[in-house]
Amino acid sequence: MPTLTEPRATASASAPRAVDVAVVGAGIVGLSCAHFLARAGIDVVVIERGEVGSGSSFGNTGLVAPSHSVPLAAPGVVRKGLGWMLRPDSPFYIRPRLDRDLAAWLLRFARSARRGPMLAAIPALRDLCNRSHDLYLRIVEEAGDPELTIARSGVLNVYGSEGSFRAGRAEAELLAGYGLRSEAVGPSELSTIEPFVRAGAAGGIIWRDDGFIDPALFVGGWRRRLEDAGVRFATSLELMELREEDRGDVRMTTTAGELKARVVVAAAGAWTSRLLRSAGARLQVQPAKGYSLTAELGTARGPRRGLLLADAKVAVAPMRSGLRIAGTMEMSGLDPRIDLRRVEAVRRSALTYLDLEPDELERARTWRGFRAVSADGLPVIGRLPGTPSVLVATGHGHIGVTLGPATGEMISQIVQGVPATVDPWPFRPER
Ligand SMILES: Cc1cc2nc3c(=O)[nH]c(=O)nc-3n(C[C@H](O)[C@H](O)[C@H](O)COP(=O)(O)OP(=O)(O)OC[C@H]3O[C@@H](n4cnc5c(N)ncnc54)[C@H](O)[C@@H]3O)c2cc1C
Repeated sequence: MPTLTEPRATASASAPRAVDVAVVGAGIVGLSCAHFLARAGIDVVVIERGEVGSGSSFGNTGLVAPSHSVPLAAPGVVRKGLGWMLRPDSPFYIRPRLDRDLAAWLLRFARSARRGPMLAAIPALRDLCNRSHDLYLRIVEEAGDPELTIARSGVLNVYGSEGSFRAGRAEAELLAGYGLRSEAVGPSELSTIEPFVRAGAAGGIIWRDDGFIDPALFVGGWRRRLEDAGVRFATSLELMELREEDRGDVRMTTTAGELKARVVVAAAGAWTSRLLRSAGARLQVQPAKGYSLTAELGTARGPRRGLLLADAKVAVAPMRSGLRIAGTMEMSGLDPRIDLRRVEAVRRSALTYLDLEPDELERARTWRGFRAVSADGLPVIGRLPGTPSVLVATGHGHIGVTLGPATGEMISQIVQGVPATVDPWPFRPER
């Protein structure tokens, strides 16, 4: 049964029910939008086809990491990706298929993966990441809720070989030029600061300004606070189509009939592109599946901070429900099947680098989620061209948790027509 609470402004019985702003998608991005819209006194309904936080925002590693300000589309990635494509257990995989949108995405990705576009993208991402980090601190402080916490322990990148450590230091140096601070540590120091990492790694880089949240706990706790603030949640309700009408309102066809909103914010994660086709938009955003394992270890075991096993592109963070280990990017559309070879690759990386025994991972819970990956590595935030009552907030790729709050703030500022804290221009949908 859909649980749409009755909107405040109801028209005649035969007309679609009207709401002020409908946010589609109750992940970290949708909740962030709802938070900042509600704070501005705007009437908000969040429409979610499943449960709140049941998408990509559920089982990820929760890193809030300004250190990830280099876009995915960076020099060298295409060459590396082509090599990885031949291995079913590699960190990145594209299932070969005839798909016009995928071909256009790949071309744009290859064009963006050059030094010039990358250097232009870094400050834009840095500003959005830093703003989000600050907003997380503010949200946590205001909430005073044990479920809405952020661990400010920093994130340690671990490098398995001299070559990858060198590349990591070069990236850290590049980011230092944009004001992002880090410290490189050699192998002996590495095992002292993080005994959970096995000896044998070539080195590490500590990003002290990074942190992590427990995403499912955070989203669950935030939902309750938003409800207290008057935001309504309509769960088990799927939006199938949306259309802007002549008067500027948006008519939404849902699984429980028609709804009308003054403004719709499409924050449906990896499903946003498909949803917006009904509004005539073609976003250059592709789904990319990732997997996580969550293992219950003894209470005193686990890393002291978030980790990134850089060679394998696997992230690790301790959650209340266990140690979370996540990785791989598999571009096979929205196919929900779990490829056990890729899950095994994540497991193997954890056993290689971390002080874990195989039996500790035996009963780990496997999860898959879809990242919404834009072709140029920047999220897509703003009004849809030609359909100004529809706003989009997607394309956050592997850093949607990191970028959630700043995205929500930006969406709210655009809706209100007030100057945005972070320049929205690099993220505009028509770019
Ligand atoms: C393995 C893995 C690890 C990751 N680790 C990190 C990390 O450490 N740090 C980080 O910053 N990011 C990380 N990410 C990325 C991050 O999880 C995502 O970018 C982020 O969760 C996206 O949030 P979202 O709200 O846009 O999407 P989602 O959380 O997917 O929410 C979208 C919601 O929209 C709903 N929906 C879709 N279509 C409709 C419709 N038609 N009608 C109604 N509802 C609809 C879905 O059910 C879903 O709940 C990771 C991702 C993966 C897969």
